Amino acid sequence: MAEPESTVVNPSVKQKDPSKALVIAVTTRAIFNLEEEHQLYLEKGKEEYVRHQQANQDRPLPPGTAFAFIQAVQYVNKKILESNPAEEDLFDILLLSNNSPESGVRIINSAKHYGLEISKFCFVSDEDSTQYLKSHGVKLFLSADRTDVCNALRRGVSAALVFQQEVQAPSTPLRVAFDGDAVLFSDETDQVFREQGLEGAVQYERAMEAVPMGEGPMKAFAMHLGKIHKKFNREECPIRTYLVTARSGRDMGIRAIKTLREWGLAIDEAFFMDGAPKGPILAQIQPHIFFDDGLHNIQGAQDMGVPSAWVPSCC
Ligand SMILES: [Mg+2]
Repeated sequence: MAEPESTVVNPSVKQKDPSKALVIAVTTRAIFNLEEEHQLYLEKGKEEYVRHQQANQDRPLPPGTAFAFIQAVQYVNKKILESNPAEEDLFDILLLSNNSPESGVRIINSAKHYGLEISKFCFVSDEDSTQYLKSHGVKLFLSADRTDVCNALRRGVSAALVFQQEVQAPSTPLRVAFDGDAVLFSDETDQVFREQGLEGAVQYERAMEAVPMGEGPMKAFAMHLGKIHKKFNREECPIRTYLVTARSGRDMGIRAIKTLREWGLAIDEAFFMDGAPKGPILAQIQPHIFFDDGLHNIQGAQDMGVPSAWVPSCC
């Protein structure tokens, strides 16, 4: 089993305390567009892939789906340190790759080219690279590999799958949009909906109005994000968070709001869409990343050029 390698690319990247930092692990195929290279790997094998990456080591890879999100996260770090140079609650980016170190030069060079502040590069050849997530204190894992994402979720790490897509480059501040059920919240109401239909789900919500919902796979990450959010007053905050849920506000909004209040999680804006498509509102919000467990919602967001990450509830 290969040991992870660690390389500090940019000497100005402040070493962060992993127990305090919000560590985000992103895979190379999530942050860069490696589709052509991945195809080569699948069709011609590892040797040909390594040869190609070595021959092109000085040619930067094009940005991938999670690229703008990582750049916006860097912007937040900059703002945090401007307001308090001693602050330790910072984002820390770790790049996780199934590439062997000999094909990793192009990846390191690409990160340098774009000025990405990645503190650790881990080239792991092991089948299940998610085994390193806990020891690195990872709070969010973004990958283009479904098995990786499911393994991370099983390990209790907030994780989502990104697909290669066309992305509009959103401006700062960092904007993160979450779906509600089966993403921030547990899927208990979804289950009632599947078994008893909409009327049954509405009745269930009414009966349970005073009982906070269980936590979904993205709650832990959202809470960490909320902790950094709280350091700023609303006007100056470099982070904006959104809830974009299919729930109707009238029948099912109260329990969602009460749950967020119970958790102490402040969300800047909440949209209760009552089953309407989410794409148009997301196009207006222009989040750097949108998390949803519904593939139709992911597709709707992708059609609008919104970087989207699928939180599978069926691993
Ligand atoms: Mg949902």
